[in-house]
Formats: sequence, structure tokens, C-alpha cells
Amino acid sequence: MSVAVYPGSFDPITKGHTAILKSGLVAFERIIVAVLNNESKQPLFSVAERMEMIQLAAEEMGAEPGRVEVDSFDGLLVDYAGSRGAQCILRGLRAVADFEYELQMANMNRHLNTDIETVFIMADDAYFYVASTLVKEVARLGGNVAELVPAAVQPRLLAKFDK
Ligand code: ADP
Repeated sequence: MSVAVYPGSFDPITKGHTAILKSGLVAFERIIVAVLNNESKQPLFSVAERMEMIQLAAEEMGAEPGRVEVDSFDGLLVDYAGSRGAQCILRGLRAVADFEYELQMANMNRHLNTDIETVFIMADDAYFYVASTLVKEVARLGGNVAELVPAAVQPRLLAKFDK
């Protein structure tokens, strides 16, 4: 079975992320969306909150049961992917700014484990400029982000910012 790990901060998940997930499901039988447990990034949402929103977003997408799993990890991504039986790491590519960082990470991960390939999917042009950081900033300032995030995310963002 073709299995990919889709790792990220997902703080919170956006429609840019779900577009990658949807495209990824064309290529892979099963995708494990893996939330990086990294407190040094000072996330807005806890890992449990982020995982819950991803689960709800997968249901909203209508993903077939068993094809999307939500998990969290820390430590080396290639070790995690190997332990989960994944052959690939799935990443999304947005503007030019993503490219250098992603290339560096993909090369490092290949150096660490030549059996695991990084696969990129180009961002949906509707969400090319959507980033979790920007969505949080707009929501904090009272802007409407309803069209940029899955339905479960907007009320949770509003609650965080007391809106
Ligand atoms: P990280 O901190 O690992 O970059 P993110 O949650 O920001 O975690 O992103 C996870 C993955 O999803 C990355 O590959 C990122 O490029 C991709 N991604 C984020 N936003 C979008 C978007 N709007 N369209 C396509 N891919 C995206």
C-alpha cells in the first residue's frame, strides 16, 4: 500500500493544506497527517487542538474512511515516516519563498534515509498566498478568514482571539 506522511505545524490547518491533502489522495492510498510537536515555535493551538481540527477538516473534505490518519510526532521526520511504514513525505509548494527551504529539507532527509522520497504538490492557485501565520494575524485583527480555513477552524480562531 502506498503511504505518505504529510508533516507540518498545521497551526491551524487551512484550505491550502486541505487542497494538498486532496491532491495527495490521488497519488497515495493512505496519508498520515502528522503534526510536529515543537513547542519552540510557540503555537497558538495545542497539538490536540490542531489534530482535532485536521480530523474535522478531513471529514468535511469527505475523505474515505481509513485513507487519512491524523497523528503527531517529534524527533526526526524520516525516522517517524519509516516507523509508520511510509515510503514518501508529502509537502506543498507555494511561492518561490518555499522552494529553497523545501529543497534543503528534502535533500537533508534523503541524506538521512535514501529509502524515503519527498514528493511535492503545487499549491492550488486559490490558496497560493494562504499561510497559517497570515490567517492567524488577520483573525487576530478581526478580519474574516472563513473562506480560507475549513469550517471547524474559524470559530476556534475567533474563540482564541476573544472575537
Ligand atoms: P511547516 O512549519 O512544516 O512549514 P506548515 O503547516 O506551515 O508547516 O506547512 C505544512 C506543509 O503544507 C508545507 O509543505 C507547506 O509548504 C504546505 N502548505 C502550507 N500552506 C499551503 C498552501 N496554502 N498551499 C499549499 N501548500 C501549503
